[in-house]
Amino acid sequence: MKKTKFIFVTGGVLSSLGKGLAAASIGALLKARGLNVSIQKLDPYLNLDPGTMSPFQHGEVFVTDDGAETDLDLGHYERYLGVPMSRKNTYTAGRIYSIVLNKERQGKYLGGTVQVIPHVTDEVKAAIKSATTPEMDVLLVEIGGTVGDIESQPFLEAIRQLKNDLGKSRCLYIHLTLVPYLKTSGEPKSKPTQHSVKELRSLGIQPDIIMCRSEQALSPELKRKIALFCDVSENAVFSAVDVGNIYEVPLEYHREGIDNKVARLLRLKGEPDIAPWVRLNERLGNPKQEVTIGLVGKYVALGESYKSLHEALTHGGLDNQARVTIRHVNAEDLKPRNLEKHLGGLDGILVPGGFGDRGVEGMILAARYAREKRRPFFGICLGMQCQVIEFARHVAGLPEATSEEFNPKAKDKVIYLMTDWYDHRAERHEKRTAQSDLGGTMRLGSYPCRLAPSSLAFKAYKEPEINERHRHRFEFNNDYLDLMEKSGLKFGGLSPDHTLVEMLELPTKEHPWYLGCQFHPEFKSTPMKPHPLFRDFIKAALAGRPSPTAKN
Ligand code: GLN
Repeated sequence: MKKTKFIFVTGGVLSSLGKGLAAASIGALLKARGLNVSIQKLDPYLNLDPGTMSPFQHGEVFVTDDGAETDLDLGHYERYLGVPMSRKNTYTAGRIYSIVLNKERQGKYLGGTVQVIPHVTDEVKAAIKSATTPEMDVLLVEIGGTVGDIESQPFLEAIRQLKNDLGKSRCLYIHLTLVPYLKTSGEPKSKPTQHSVKELRSLGIQPDIIMCRSEQALSPELKRKIALFCDVSENAVFSAVDVGNIYEVPLEYHREGIDNKVARLLRLKGEPDIAPWVRLNERLGNPKQEVTIGLVGKYVALGESYKSLHEALTHGGLDNQARVTIRHVNAEDLKPRNLEKHLGGLDGILVPGGFGDRGVEGMILAARYAREKRRPFFGICLGMQCQVIEFARHVAGLPEATSEEFNPKAKDKVIYLMTDWYDHRAERHEKRTAQSDLGGTMRLGSYPCRLAPSSLAFKAYKEPEINERHRHRFEFNNDYLDLMEKSGLKFGGLSPDHTLVEMLELPTKEHPWYLGCQFHPEFKSTPMKPHPLFRDFIKAALAGRPSPTAKN
């Protein structure tokens, strides 16, 4: 059994500095040394998980195989490490407090006064340890928020204590800060970093490494100044400069020597093999073709809302040596009279997942447009449900077809809540989490799907059975299966017991590439292993273009 080492990543000055990407990139570089690495996120907010948070506020909700609804940083971890995360890789302060409060109700504290220290901090430490395995060499722990937030304090106190519990040689503290460049004085400023480290040290944590996000590389003098004020050696202050694409970050860190410093401080063995990252960046930087995909959704105002989707489209482009330009189309803007204007120039159209009826009629219009104009179309979760509704209304002769989500009293609920399945799901969720809450009503996590041999789906995956991640309440209503099939819709993927429609498509003689899936394939795409559905969607979009270089 290995003694796992821990790297704690904290952030200062402001949020959104890219701590998740920093942790993922360091993790990738350590993995490149042949080490067994994982990453955990500790989020200071009081929600039990981000499942109930609006994508407008918090960005995408990422879903793991075991059905945890998590922060989007877990998506970065999976994409950079190529290993699946689980609910042990993510804890919020809310979840920690709820564990403590449940224990209190069960009398587990034997009448003692329950306090932040030691009860909450003990639970944080247990959560951190729960994410390790006997084979794990390194666990990176990213603390969400910034040093100085009231909510972060129990987490910071817990990671401070761990150094004493585990020994100095097993813990490393990295602090990520911002060095802003002031145009008026024409120089980069180190004061916010000094203050942030001062705050961290007042909590008893002395950083071993300081990483400074900045527009330009820090000068040796500036590094010296920061080192002096923050009590670290000069060679432990690094620039983390802004780069063109996020997959360049590991290479940039390697050039700076960050991974070597980490390895030396933690006495980690091995030489990194960064060749795969170099090759990836070469391919990203030298596309042979361009393709424009329209993303017709309702959360288009915030780019972070469709993070995994953006990445999966980029990965799909990689496999086709193509640069993918994503054009966001607000579904609410689409009207029958302006479809050509909004969708006309697109090589492919994607309707992503979503909740509620806002923008749905626009998404249905987009599905119809793509079907009739034979434009490559990819419907994901809500997107697939829109394909079903559209096909039912305009091909299968059910003009009132809709989803139970939008109108529970509708005559033809082609998408509906499957009650027995729903109960089974809630039960399964309760078993998993010992609580019944809002999240319990969704089909969450990985489920198997069997593919029809001569389908587009099978052609992409080249496997008879696949596993993909779900996050939805509503399902295809099997009462309409025969009618839809007779009308020409093909069901390319079903649950192994044939009770759930997981994938649909149009025959290739009708349409070049028209596919929908009830699951979220974007969560499983990585740059090193692009997802087959995104690869084929981009391929179809490229094939539909008049000539490889004609458009921009
Ligand atoms: N709102 C739909 C449902 O709950 C689709 C969910 C989604 O797209 N993730 O079934």
